[in-house]
Amino acid sequence: MLDITELERKTPILKEIREEKEVFWMNPDKTNCQEAMKHIELTMENVNDAEKRLERFAPFIMKCFPETKDRNGLIESVLTPIPKMKELLNEKYQSNLEGTLLLKQDSHLAIAGSIKARGGIYEVLKYTEDLALENGLLKPEDSYEKLTDEECRKFFKNYTIQVGSTGNLGMSIGIMSAAVGYQVIVHMSVDAKQWKKDILRSHGVTVKEYESDYSEAVKNGRALSDQDPKSYFVDDENSRTLFLGYAVAAKRLKKQLDEQKATVDEEHPLFTYIPCGVGGAPGGVSFGLKLVFGDNVHCFFVEPTQAPCMLVGMSTGLNHEISVQDIGLTGLTHADGLAVGRPSGFVGGVMKYLLSGEFTVRDAKLYDYMRDLLDTEAIFLEPSACAAFQGPVHMEKSEITENYLLENHLKEKMKNVTHIAWATGGNLVPEEIREEYKKTYLDK
Ligand SMILES: *Cc1c(COP(=O)(O)O)cnc(C)c1O
Repeated sequence: MLDITELERKTPILKEIREEKEVFWMNPDKTNCQEAMKHIELTMENVNDAEKRLERFAPFIMKCFPETKDRNGLIESVLTPIPKMKELLNEKYQSNLEGTLLLKQDSHLAIAGSIKARGGIYEVLKYTEDLALENGLLKPEDSYEKLTDEECRKFFKNYTIQVGSTGNLGMSIGIMSAAVGYQVIVHMSVDAKQWKKDILRSHGVTVKEYESDYSEAVKNGRALSDQDPKSYFVDDENSRTLFLGYAVAAKRLKKQLDEQKATVDEEHPLFTYIPCGVGGAPGGVSFGLKLVFGDNVHCFFVEPTQAPCMLVGMSTGLNHEISVQDIGLTGLTHADGLAVGRPSGFVGGVMKYLLSGEFTVRDAKLYDYMRDLLDTEAIFLEPSACAAFQGPVHMEKSEITENYLLENHLKEKMKNVTHIAWATGGNLVPEEIREEYKKTYLDK
């Protein structure tokens, strides 16, 4: 049993977290990037390897998903300036935001319509490549288009991919696995939306539903998969493969920033705000960003007040040894993509010295930010993804963030900053659900 009184004494912010307050937490363990990387087993070489693998699969992806043709089979999203949203944040929330505000639209990634199209799809492809090479279906010099042959599909039918998901990871793994030809079982937590289950079933995926939360769905999925030697389990909590798939985003972002003539250097820092569930997606992307931009990028995560698992794990130092339920929170949130009670211990370890800080956000605000973005920029995001705006809204407003800016000598550079709100999902949300979301107003 955890001694909450003792924990609160060591980590005072826990009190506010337990009271369901919105908090800002600046990471006291953050060090310079070079030093931080010494503690991490993964390197740029691993990210380059992942990037090349995705390039090898591009012809296959293009053949299976013609909508990826205009990017030659790369699954990538646009980086959009949202000046009207910035103006609104300053007027409506007195945000005092000075620099440029951009939206990274992973919400509109091909195939899965969420950030999971990076890690999830990458992991399925990595496993596919391993199997195909081992079993002589593919030689290294072949075009991977060959994997769409009937003979290959027949082979992959003998294998099963399983994953535990709150929704979007299941969709990304499910859709890509079905395209390769695998049997797929997605273990879904109670938070998973009906429409996501429906889409999956329409792709021939078996959906198993659980009354319990995400961690339980993962546990059951892993146990079932372990019993079957021809089943592969995508482990959202520990997978290095998944993590590297996310990290590739950083190198591509660098190119996009260059194209937009957005400089990132010591005088022109980059701030990123990424919604966080178990940690893999925001961790992987942020790790990649740190490799590319070093100390000039400041990475923040955002979590719902009812499910701030990464914040609880990192601030107490207990990592995955503690859950939000342990401290009396429900873990229940409208942000289904972030409804995770226990963080990834692996990601907590990687981010220990890299992460700048965390924001938490109440569910009611997610719908407000969603309407704000629709009204100003006509872009739709799912509520989970709207958590990203909690960063820009408070970065130049609160005393806690002010201290961070002062300590890091950023105060006088704020007008040069590029802020990126990382939009993590939304494109597959059906029209009638969007209408429902637009009419949703919760108690503040
Ligand atoms: C999964 C998800 C995230 C967070 O990713 P984790 O790897 O769970 O931290 C954020 N936003 C949306 C919309 C997601 O589906």
